[in-house]
Amino acid sequence: MKRYLLICLLAVVGLSSCKGFETVPPEEFETRIADGKAQLLDVRTREEYYAGYIPGAINIDGRLNIFMDECKASLDPSVPVAVYCRGGRRSAEAAQKLAKAGYEVFDLDGGILEWADAGKPIVDIDNYEVDIFKTDSGKEVYVHAMAHATMYMVYDSLNIYIDPVSRSGGKSFSYLKLPRANYVLLTHEHGDHFDRNALALMPMAQLVTNARCAEMLGYGTVMANGDALQLRDDIKVEAVPAYNCTEGREQFHPKGRDNGFILTLDGLRIYIAGDTEDIPEMSQIKDIDVAYLPCNQPYTMTPDQFVNAVNVIKPKVAFPYHYSNTDVSVLPARLPDTDVRIRQYQ
Ligand code: ZN
Ligand code: ZN
Repeated sequence: MKRYLLICLLAVVGLSSCKGFETVPPEEFETRIADGKAQLLDVRTREEYYAGYIPGAINIDGRLNIFMDECKASLDPSVPVAVYCRGGRRSAEAAQKLAKAGYEVFDLDGGILEWADAGKPIVDIDNYEVDIFKTDSGKEVYVHAMAHATMYMVYDSLNIYIDPVSRSGGKSFSYLKLPRANYVLLTHEHGDHFDRNALALMPMAQLVTNARCAEMLGYGTVMANGDALQLRDDIKVEAVPAYNCTEGREQFHPKGRDNGFILTLDGLRIYIAGDTEDIPEMSQIKDIDVAYLPCNQPYTMTPDQFVNAVNVIKPKVAFPYHYSNTDVSVLPARLPDTDVRIRQYQ
């Protein structure tokens, strides 16, 4: 009898310590992830994630060999991790790995299917046009066109926001429902680029900006034109000049104040020009894979200047962005040797 009890006791202890995490139904899951109390982790494939995910979730595919490395790079070990997948199987596997590594973790019973059945919110990002680029080692970079000057990129399970604003063109963006920001790049202080309300929803993000915005906010990593910063071994930011050079327009964006950025993600070089004209310094911008160039008057470039800028920089792919009412449909025909893509921004 004693022996039987001992076996039972060992079995119970064994089971609970072996599992090491809780599985909770949608209602409780929702309560436990509210107000950023837990880090929300979607362990499905990238394709499944983009078909709709729980607001605020980051995505790390649980079946990848590098899953735990990615988790260690992206998750705060002092905050509980809430895991989910499609039906609950992969999240249980992932939760077990995380629990073993010392994370406090719980997973969603029945996955996002149960969550949806319970009428809980799911982010549908089909509304944004997405471009996918490959880095040197074959990783994917997703660029989501949002508003006028706002975009967000996903690279290596990190979310990078450029000039995030809450409102543009009559549309509003809820950053609580979008993936949690890891990095924010802010070019300058104008209202279509700088929005305290949006930034307030990104408390965990590292903000990289110019001296003026950092001063206005009271925080931020300051970069001046010409500075370079390594955010991670594989993520580099260079701040480049962005200003008006046409007589009578200098006051919009005075030389030396604002930044454009070159973001290098594992070798993929993305130039986000900010509010600028086709300034002479563009001849120093080289080896660009993807360029976002503004095209609206009187604040940035005319279509002629846009064409000139592309001919100087020679990016593989060029996007007119920040174009308001400018007719950019004429641009691809004027640049037959460049892949010019037009996205709808709000
Ligand atoms: Zn501006
Ligand atoms: Zn602007």
